[in-house]
Amino acid sequence: MTHLDGNALAGRFDDLLGIDLTAAVGRCGGCGQARELARARAFVTAMGTVLRCAECESVLAVLVDARDEVVVNLSGLAFFTVPAH
Ligand SMILES: [Zn+2]
Repeated sequence: MTHLDGNALAGRFDDLLGIDLTAAVGRCGGCGQARELARARAFVTAMGTVLRCAECESVLAVLVDARDEVVVNLSGLAFFTVPAH
C-alpha cells in the first residue's frame, strides 16, 4: 500500500484537536524514536487513516471516521510535543 507523509493529516489534526501536526514531535511507543510527526507514514483508506512510524512501522495513531464521530487512537505514541504559543 502506498503512503503519504504525515503532512497529509495536518488539516485533520488541526480540525479535530487543534494541533499543528507539521510542528509536532512524537515519540514512538515501539522503537522510542522521537521524530516530527510530519515525517511519519500516513496510510489513507476509506475506513480511516493510520499513521505509522517511519523507523519501525509501528502504528502511532489511527483515525476512524464513524457515522457521526471520529475515533482517534493515539496509543502508539509514548507522547508528543507541540510548540507553545
Ligand atoms: Zn518506531
